[in-house]
Amino acid sequence: MRAANGRGDLDFDVVVVGAGFAGLYALHRLRGLGFSTTVIESADDVGGTWYWNRYPGARCDIESIDYSYSFDPELQAEWQWSERYATQPEILRYLGHVADKHELRRHIRFSTRVVAATWDDDASFWRVRTDRADELRCRFYVMASGCLSLPKTPDIEGVGRFRGAIYHTNRWPHEGVDFSGKRVAVIGTGSSGIQSIPLIARQAAALTVFQRTPNFSRPAYNGPVPATKKAAFDADPAAYRHAARWSRAGVPAEPSLVRVFQVSEEERLAKYEAAYASGDLLALSSTFADIGADPRANQTVCDFMRAKIRSIVRDPATAETLSPKDHFYGTKRPCLDTDYFETFNLPHVGLVDLRKDPIRTITETGIETASRSFAFDAIVFATGFDAMTGPIVAVDIEGRNGSPLAPKWAEGPRTYLGLMTHGFPNFFTITGPGSPSVLSNMVVSIEQHIDWLAACLVHMRAERLDAVEPTATAEAGWVQHVNDCADVTLFPSANSWYMGANVPGKPRVFLPYVGGVDRYRKTCDEVVSRGYLGFAFDGPGGARCNDGVVNRLQLDVSIVLELIAGLGLPPMETMAVADARALLAGMAIGRPPGPEVSDVADGVLDGTAGLLAYRCYRPASPGPHPIVVYFHGGGWVLGGLDSDDPFCRDLCVRSESIVVSVDYRHAPEARFPAAVDDGFAAVRWIAANADALGGDASRLAVCGWSAGGNIAAVVCQMARDAGGPRIAGQVLVNPVTDCDLGRESYVANSDGYILTTALMRWFWDQYADPADRTDPKASPLRARDLSGLPPALVVTAEFDPLRDDGAAYAAAMAAAGVDVCHLACRGQIHTSVTAVDMILSAGGAREEIGAALRRFLAAPAPAYGGEVVAAMRAS
Ligand code: FAD
Ligand code: NAP
Repeated sequence: MRAANGRGDLDFDVVVVGAGFAGLYALHRLRGLGFSTTVIESADDVGGTWYWNRYPGARCDIESIDYSYSFDPELQAEWQWSERYATQPEILRYLGHVADKHELRRHIRFSTRVVAATWDDDASFWRVRTDRADELRCRFYVMASGCLSLPKTPDIEGVGRFRGAIYHTNRWPHEGVDFSGKRVAVIGTGSSGIQSIPLIARQAAALTVFQRTPNFSRPAYNGPVPATKKAAFDADPAAYRHAARWSRAGVPAEPSLVRVFQVSEEERLAKYEAAYASGDLLALSSTFADIGADPRANQTVCDFMRAKIRSIVRDPATAETLSPKDHFYGTKRPCLDTDYFETFNLPHVGLVDLRKDPIRTITETGIETASRSFAFDAIVFATGFDAMTGPIVAVDIEGRNGSPLAPKWAEGPRTYLGLMTHGFPNFFTITGPGSPSVLSNMVVSIEQHIDWLAACLVHMRAERLDAVEPTATAEAGWVQHVNDCADVTLFPSANSWYMGANVPGKPRVFLPYVGGVDRYRKTCDEVVSRGYLGFAFDGPGGARCNDGVVNRLQLDVSIVLELIAGLGLPPMETMAVADARALLAGMAIGRPPGPEVSDVADGVLDGTAGLLAYRCYRPASPGPHPIVVYFHGGGWVLGGLDSDDPFCRDLCVRSESIVVSVDYRHAPEARFPAAVDDGFAAVRWIAANADALGGDASRLAVCGWSAGGNIAAVVCQMARDAGGPRIAGQVLVNPVTDCDLGRESYVANSDGYILTTALMRWFWDQYADPADRTDPKASPLRARDLSGLPPALVVTAEFDPLRDDGAAYAAAMAAAGVDVCHLACRGQIHTSVTAVDMILSAGGAREEIGAALRRFLAAPAPAYGGEVVAAMRAS
């Protein structure tokens, strides 16, 4: 056979591994586009997951209306699901029907395993070898081999010795198993165990469940397809599917923007009850916006679920054992069940807590734990899979220059978009690691991947290109993004298969992409619309490489920006000052309050032209404490004690210092140098009144954000030049240090990241006449001498017009011999660090700030070394 797409004698354009949901659709789609395609499948029929997992009770836990193909409107209309959550046999029938309807079977080689695949760099094709000792040459090698298709090898001693029957949920006999009259053991309480245990208990004479980790599970309330769901679907299937594709998890749903502690306990519990009663797997995690990220918020769900277990299981000790305590809700895949916890009320069902009484060995007749010996007729392993990477690295894959894939992924999978990996041209992984896959309704994710792949192949055919490969830069950027996204969630805290933690020796890396189906789809589309950003192509049509990184913003930053964009606010610089102030004040309403501090008190201090308000935050520990004088942001025009309140609380807790947030006169009413003069006066007053504030004047630092960073920087210079007060350290967060708005960061980040270049210009216009702006009291970077300043931490954000201001000031201070640390925050914007409990990904920066302040304030500040530097004039 000669392939349609290129040079040389190829057997096929595309070889696809696997005939599950993914392989079947890939075959249909690619053949439909004229690519000669074959599928290789180790099973003797189609179905994938639904071919292998035939254990009693196996069914989907995403509602069948959602968990079904969308590519064929006719199929959608003709296939009616008999239950809300279809059983394995029904899903298998469905996939068989799809294969028949689209005449797919004749293009599938069943009972054949792919064992190796090698890229021929000279001729740009793959050699795919099977366990039948044949070799197929193809241009594109697609692994639709499943995320949960490689059973985990039971890592329990003595497995081979048992003389009774052994079953694996994921390799269940086709003829079924009759457990009547038998003494049965089930090892494992993940979804497979939880689904099968109630049904095995119905048959067995005695059932003992061996549990290592209890799981969160709740009733599926299975039954007929809910009328409301069906009506929503039938009303407009295309619109319904569109909503699924652009949803967070592949099922139409509106994400909640409300946080757990924004509502009363009563309201919270009512929402949990409703989610529980819905029988919808995704409902509970999505009741509130912060369940996946905030430990305290998540604990409320855990408590709710544990109470449910206690209300079902009669024996308190058993209920306790069945109650998950070592992981947050949702960080291991939660389960839907039918009578799972009720099963433990049956007299012939026992539970062994392997945490307290671990298995020593499997014997010829049963199982021996540390303290007991059990006799069984059958053992069922519901012990799961080597998920996501397992089936891929099980094949001996060699890319360019004969480089094997397994070592490349030894520290964790490295992919671009979860679709491809650098060094392995024309090799695609459907729902691969680094894509939403197992965190989503997988059929939606499968279709999206295959549609993307199909479009890519069509593009290559049109452009006469033979090879496609992600660049190393694009891949590194994506791996970073996938990890960054996971790191703002609670997922990495659990020993889950998402983390590879279930397989001994597997690297601990979060495998799927947590950013959501919608965001991921948008990203994949953007990659294409930006000319296949991050991909290199080669072939008769020429070589081209569009190197680059997609999604460079942190996930939570993107979400906040989208929310703000959704408000459709006018640019601040087009507003009257009073309206801009009101807008800023309004935006503070309803935001998270920041951490609790021991005491908050407001007062007034002497400024240069009258009294200034201040707010004093005290930590819980006994004093006297060091003092941090804080200057709020707002372009010398906006803001006040309330605007940066959560950040001040955060500073207080992390630095274990008294934080005194001081007001200063605002422009345009009081223009330059009112703000910095007030700032310096405030520092002097606070140093003089430290005792009364409960603080230690010899340990005083300054901190400011944005224009407040400008004031803090200038105050340090003024204090140095005036010979005091002694300032032990300065933390400048995204500071304004210069009036030059032509720096690269002003150009690159001029719009779209809250603080715009236009707004910065407006702030300057309000604050200072052009002639004054070059004065070091306005542009501290322009001071003739920066030596002798207190040690500094300068924080900058990658997507901030002010980024280069901060970087330049840090570099200039360092050049002048100041002890400076520059913290450049990747993927962050101007407002990230101060958005406490909103931009969680800036938590690391907040921690660094706290640590720097603790370091600066650990010991009394030394006196300035006698050098009085008078360099505050314009240079
Ligand atoms: P699979 O269905 O796993 O098919 C991959 C196929 O590739 C297998 O048949 C395998 O034999 C074959 N294969 C692998 N390697 C080779 C090789 N080297 N050579 C030849 N053949 C090979 N997801 C949901 O979204 N909702 C659910 O409700 C849901 N329920 C699930 C229930 C169970 C019991 C399990 C195990 C998983 C469930 N999943 C669910 C995840 C499920 O795996 C996916 O939804 C989907 O079925 C995956 O389809 P696939 O085609 O990508 O992979
Ligand atoms: P799993 O979630 O990994 O569960 C495996 C269970 O076996 C866990 O309880 C695990 O304990 C235990 N285990 C593993 N090795 C063990 C050992 N050596 N000794 C004792 N216990 C051991 O696997 P799964 O239940 O097959 O489910 C995998 C995934 O498939 C699910 O998360 C889900 O995505 C999908 N699935 C879905 C459904 C559905 O309802 N639609 C049904 C089945 C599967 P630890 O937790 O301590 O590791």
